[in-house]
Amino acid sequence: MIEVVHMENNYELVIGLEIHIELKTKSKIFCSCSTEFGGEPNTRCCPVCMGYPGTMPTLNDKVLDLGIRAGISLNSEISNKSCMDRKNYFYPDLPKGYQITQYDKPLCKNGYVDIGDKKIRIERIHIEEDAGKLTYDENNNIYCEFNRCGIPLIEIVTKADITSSDEAVRFLKKLKEIMIYSEVSDCHMEKGELRCDVNVSVRKKGEISYGTRVEIKNVNSFQFIKKAIDYEFKRQVNEIEEGNKIVCETRGFDSVKGKTYTMRIKETSDDYRYFREPDIPEIYISNDRIENIRNKMTDSADIRRNRYINEFNLKLSEADLLLNSKEIADYFEECVKLTKRYDVVYKLLTGEIFRLLNGDNNIKISSKSLAKLSEYVYNGKVNVQTAIKVINILWNNSSKPVDDILNENNMWQINDESILSKIIKDVLYKNGEIVEQVKSGNEKALKVLMGKAVKETNGYGNPVTINKLLSNMINIYKKG
Ligand code: ADP
Ligand code: MG
Ligand code: ZN
Repeated sequence: MIEVVHMENNYELVIGLEIHIELKTKSKIFCSCSTEFGGEPNTRCCPVCMGYPGTMPTLNDKVLDLGIRAGISLNSEISNKSCMDRKNYFYPDLPKGYQITQYDKPLCKNGYVDIGDKKIRIERIHIEEDAGKLTYDENNNIYCEFNRCGIPLIEIVTKADITSSDEAVRFLKKLKEIMIYSEVSDCHMEKGELRCDVNVSVRKKGEISYGTRVEIKNVNSFQFIKKAIDYEFKRQVNEIEEGNKIVCETRGFDSVKGKTYTMRIKETSDDYRYFREPDIPEIYISNDRIENIRNKMTDSADIRRNRYINEFNLKLSEADLLLNSKEIADYFEECVKLTKRYDVVYKLLTGEIFRLLNGDNNIKISSKSLAKLSEYVYNGKVNVQTAIKVINILWNNSSKPVDDILNENNMWQINDESILSKIIKDVLYKNGEIVEQVKSGNEKALKVLMGKAVKETNGYGNPVTINKLLSNMINIYKKG
């Protein structure tokens, strides 16, 4: 065992990723079938996406817009001229017998993702169509499901710049965030909207050339990607140390066993007999179009993160809590356009509203109402407990004006010291025993009095003022 660890120390990992991401379009890439997830099998397809002879594909222009968005957000060059190509292969999930993709003239080239301490280079981004899906039943019957045929994808290919499983996961998380914030895709991994092929090789430290790689297909969670890479590292080092050659092959990952296994010997591009797709003309993208798209893009998560930290004084963890969901972050941005009480908005949003959302994204309170409530909390017109009550009322009646709710229920905060003093005096009078305990130094008893006074105001008394007045009176008692 000691020997194995020692052996592995002499090697390093080289990793390149190919990521497929489903684009957020309403219709498919070459026909008008719906891209919506699910549905009865084989009901969202037509002669075009099924590849019937004589049908003609028409490229969905929105696919280009989203591909360009992806390119811009990954710091890539957008090609003014690109082409679609046919990649020929037989597989039961591909009724056409070929996939329309891009080969030598992809839509975008030469980008990078900044993962903090390092830039991972992006070799290319191309657009293509998805294939169908095969499902198996308990008797090992295979079913072909073609609803996914023709769903638009981008494939993002990195340079082999990644050097550990942790770095691969860090890169993928960043990439996912960038794709979500540039509105290219929702990247729901459980729906297969982001899928990753992992190319892994090892080499002796100090070696300049790459070792032979294997490609692990379609590993569908970040955790499994990490496990698959770590397993492959050990396996390849062992093979080499035992004097064997690494076979250039396609492997699968068995998530139950935590192991990769041979699927097939890797095909080369010759095997696919690529040629230009004759039914789709060359694609021209003007610089104007690229600039138009660039100008319409909203701030990236990185830009927002910096702003939340530097302008709104949030901690990194707090900024991340908001940015975790784009819907939440967008809502937060709407609110802070209307009020400067960033910290109150943050507290109410991540407190009571998160509790009501319970993991969902559907905020049932207008940003205008939350901004107004936050102003009131800041100005002492309502206290936090009241704000929480109002949020709950609005949750079921979002169109009701905040002021109406406060007026109808008499929920404005009582700040008037003479009113509060009177209430406190009354509480002290009625609770002589507790007052005696406080006088003899019992801090808990003071809290009990505080609670009683707040209760007398129906929760609307200003707690800070009540605390101050109460302490003053007790001090006078103590002296007297
Ligand atoms: P293919 O299309 O056959 O999969 P590519 O040459 O386009 O092959 O490479 C695909 C991915 O494999 C890229 O992300 C690339 O960085 C990565 N890659 C290429 N060679 C190696 C290697 N020796 N080790 C690890 N990754 C590699
Ligand atoms: Mg590949
Ligand atoms: Zn169709």
